[in-house]
Amino acid sequence: MKFCDMHVHTASSPDAEMPASELVDLASEFCVGTIGFVAHLDLHPSDYCYNGFSESDYMKELDLAEVSGVRVLRGLEIGEPHLYMEKAEAIFTEERYDFITGALHWTEDGLILGEKPFLNGNALEIVERYYEDTLKIVDQSPISILAHMGIFRRGMARAGLALDFDETLLFPSLMQEILQTMIRKNIALELNTSGLRRPEKTAYPSSSVLRLYFELGGRMVTVGSDTHRSEHAFFGLSSGQSILKSCGFNDYGYFLKGRYVNTPLLRI
Ligand SMILES: [Zn+2]
Ligand SMILES: [Zn+2]
Repeated sequence: MKFCDMHVHTASSPDAEMPASELVDLASEFCVGTIGFVAHLDLHPSDYCYNGFSESDYMKELDLAEVSGVRVLRGLEIGEPHLYMEKAEAIFTEERYDFITGALHWTEDGLILGEKPFLNGNALEIVERYYEDTLKIVDQSPISILAHMGIFRRGMARAGLALDFDETLLFPSLMQEILQTMIRKNIALELNTSGLRRPEKTAYPSSSVLRLYFELGGRMVTVGSDTHRSEHAFFGLSSGQSILKSCGFNDYGYFLKGRYVNTPLLRI
């Protein structure tokens, strides 16, 4: 059995550097058998990747990667889909993708991955607004996966703030509504392991959120390394599996042509 990584960026994302074919070549070294590639489709005017997506270039890149025994899945990471899905739909062709990931990088407080919002405002109020926008995403957007929920911890760590709060206790009804909406709409919850290699040393979402999702009946989870560069390619996949196990899950999955496929967690 091999790992399945559902969040891997290629050189088609302006902030990433490895061609898909090189990532596929590297996969066996990391025991990865399934790669869910994503490209940033960002339409927030201040985003680094704004208007940086070309579907034809991305598809050509993925075509070149379909050469080995690795399962290549075609995905997109759409930023703020509750605001930009209509514009995005004019840029991408849904039928060409196995899955669409929705991501929240920007709120009215600014770029939530950076420290700025947290240096200027009340951190927990910013977190609550982040989750209010997350609810809009899962409620309004036709996505397969919700990416890196809780990534504001990166911005908070950069601002030197404490991260040991539990949003399921601070905002119980909001968190339940988000997760129940995802369950109802068959939107998978991504466990993003990129925070494990950063100062915050935590995956997104935190274990308390994963446990609540499991308690509410949620079983559709994916694991993603959010690879952008060779030095952290496929980082944290084995830790991701352990975290899911510790929260009660026996399986995780991937999306093939829009359909969730269940696969057992590895025995590590
Ligand atoms: Zn993202
Ligand atoms: Zn990403």
